Amino acid sequence: MHNLFVMSVDALFTDNLADVRHLPGFAEILGRAAIYEDVYCVYPTLTYVCHASIMSGFWPERHGVPHNQILDPATQDRAWYWDYTSLHVPTVFDWAHLAKLTTASVGWPVTAGAGSIDHNVPEVWVADPALFASPASLGPALDEVYRHGCSPSGWELYEAHRGLLDNNRTPALDEFDTACNVDLIERYRPNVLFTHQATLDHARHAHGVLAPEVQEALRLHDGWLQQCIAALKRAGTYDDTVFVIPGDHGHVRVDYKLSPNVLLARAGLIDVAEDGSVLGWRAYLQSSGVSGQLYARDEKDCPAARDALQPLIDQGLISDVLTYEDVREQFHGTGTFAFMVEAAPNYGIGSDCAGELVTPAGSDDYRYAVSTHGHLPFRGDKPPFIVAGPGVVPGRYAGARLIDEAPTMMSLAGIPFNAALLDGEDLAAAGSRAVSLPNDW
Ligand SMILES: [Zn+2]
Repeated sequence: MHNLFVMSVDALFTDNLADVRHLPGFAEILGRAAIYEDVYCVYPTLTYVCHASIMSGFWPERHGVPHNQILDPATQDRAWYWDYTSLHVPTVFDWAHLAKLTTASVGWPVTAGAGSIDHNVPEVWVADPALFASPASLGPALDEVYRHGCSPSGWELYEAHRGLLDNNRTPALDEFDTACNVDLIERYRPNVLFTHQATLDHARHAHGVLAPEVQEALRLHDGWLQQCIAALKRAGTYDDTVFVIPGDHGHVRVDYKLSPNVLLARAGLIDVAEDGSVLGWRAYLQSSGVSGQLYARDEKDCPAARDALQPLIDQGLISDVLTYEDVREQFHGTGTFAFMVEAAPNYGIGSDCAGELVTPAGSDDYRYAVSTHGHLPFRGDKPPFIVAGPGVVPGRYAGARLIDEAPTMMSLAGIPFNAALLDGEDLAAAGSRAVSLPNDW
């Protein structure tokens, strides 16, 4: 049995490994790692859908998380799938907990309230604009959401480090997570620790897929990585730790925001207030970044919704329409939507129900910012899956999928699990789907 430390770097591309290979933290891990390049994702390629697959080894059709955000047109889908009860399957935390190992998590998506995480500081934030706009209301509101999501020891960590937090803004959020990780490693020496960092992803959304700020974000991530490595060394557990760095998805460049709900509103399927907010709806397209999920309260409204969107298909602004059955069969997706649409290159799907159909991309919402994701899994850059530590055969490999990451890390760490139940497979096992690549860097 070995310890397991997993630090996901949101929106890390395989190509970025060439950028970070000489930074001290990444160099220490990459120099002795198995590097699985261009990992095949899930659809839509959204953080919570991806992380649910990474932590469980299941496709979305079985883990049940369809999107980052819970459908609620009246609030622009304000609440996210923060709660662990959103998952329909066991995760690494549950298998480790069953084996009586000590489990911990800091900032990992879809973990709030998880009974199988002993030391838990989940990823949660205050999403009500009326509360996060004012410092006087933000503090108590943040306390409230963390109190709901943390384990008792996680709450103590939150209390010790909450001064670093600025709601969900980065890099403050990752500074907070790192302080909690260092503290947690030294206090509890957990067998299993998962943590998620988001500064890189936010830099891409705000400034562009390959903006200069991306390199600055990578340097920040390296600093946080070094702090965690140093804490594991001080705790005496580093040499016996399976050390994992996964990315979750790529990004693509977006120049224009396409707002198909404008057409649904014109067709009478959405009631829109004068300020543009949604008063009621019969069919609504929930933006999932480069894609969108069409929900209808009544199935009989689906043909009207499909007809209303036809001009966008005719004009080539929507490149694909996939029925729920298509999404299920081709990508093992989940959700109660009727169909999904994929935007053409350089377009993102907006939420607006009034105004112009096509507007320049901005940075007011990650889903239709100048760089975003949520695209078909074969589009855009792909994440790496980096594993170092006892039992790992260093090298470069192809052929991995996100769903293979949980069984691979549990096998390497020696955490007992029912391999036949999972969708993914152990990439380190003899005869696995992973293909060895020439080791030329
Ligand atoms: Zn992400």
